[in-house]
Amino acid sequence: MRVATVCLLFTFAVVGRAVAQEPLRVGPVTAAPGTVASGTLEVPPRGGDQGTTLPVTVVNGSKPGPVLALVAGVHGQEYTPVLALQRLRTAIDPASLSGAVIMVHVANMPSYLARTIYYSPADGKNLNRVFPGRADGTLSERIADVITREVIDRATHVVDLHCGDGNESLRPYTYWITTGPPDVAEAGRQMALAFGMDRIVVDRERPVDPKASVYLSNTGVTRGKPALTIESGGMAQTDNESIARIERGVAGLLRHLKMRADGPAPVTKPVLFDRSEVVRSNFTGIFYGAVEKGQTVAAGTVIGRVTDFHGKVLEEFTAPFAGEVLYIIGTPAMNKGEPVVFIAATR
Ligand SMILES: [Zn+2]
Repeated sequence: MRVATVCLLFTFAVVGRAVAQEPLRVGPVTAAPGTVASGTLEVPPRGGDQGTTLPVTVVNGSKPGPVLALVAGVHGQEYTPVLALQRLRTAIDPASLSGAVIMVHVANMPSYLARTIYYSPADGKNLNRVFPGRADGTLSERIADVITREVIDRATHVVDLHCGDGNESLRPYTYWITTGPPDVAEAGRQMALAFGMDRIVVDRERPVDPKASVYLSNTGVTRGKPALTIESGGMAQTDNESIARIERGVAGLLRHLKMRADGPAPVTKPVLFDRSEVVRSNFTGIFYGAVEKGQTVAAGTVIGRVTDFHGKVLEEFTAPFAGEVLYIIGTPAMNKGEPVVFIAATR
């Protein structure tokens, strides 16, 4: 009995020491417990390009807990997540935080500064298609590599914050990734509910190979870390409603992960979309949309059309099934192979 008591006390002492909150380092940025630190991750020049920097903030709580990574600006004209992180940077108090939050304020600086949609001006690549990246690759691949090693590898939970890009008129929603180990998928489902948005796209088609994870959030999932992608805002707008929705979602996550004592409750009855499809254009030209974001459409409904530069119709797009329009292209420019509309439906 007495021996057992001594063992128990010893166990408490060891565990207590092991979980004490410690300084958290992300690249050159180190935040002591209970403090906030900001700085930049360097992506050095290589192969004739100029390299780039990633501005980051580490909010290190005073008590142990999860490490939540929040990444904004993977696409160059997606401003609402960038602005939401500016607010969250000062709103999350390290003194009352358990665990830590790592923020990447602008993940794709070349695209942000050049104001490009989808593709980096440095290498023409979509940053959210080159994960986990390559240390000896093009600039987008090296950015992905730095985010993977410095941010995702240090996190326990990952959220990739998006909105419609500068040309996408989007109704807010979350992607829940179901591939990966069942416990990771279930934890991801709970994160999606905690984020609070009422439309959740069930994503069953992400790669499972950590060496070819392709997407940022999937880089977390393939490494055993629950992860989400969220979409709130679009068309290069900076509306408060879309920004506040992201702030609220992060607050819900902090509560769910027990990093903060209070916060908004999870969404109770979201619409889960089991079926979704991006309709793409087979032609380059001028796009005319015929439906609005959030609109419910029947199978076969005309979604829009693309014409050549003299007005001749090249292709008419129709809804492949009955569903809800989550986003539709809202500007005329259209390239062959690019998205026209994203439609989702419950089964
Ligand atoms: Zn995006």
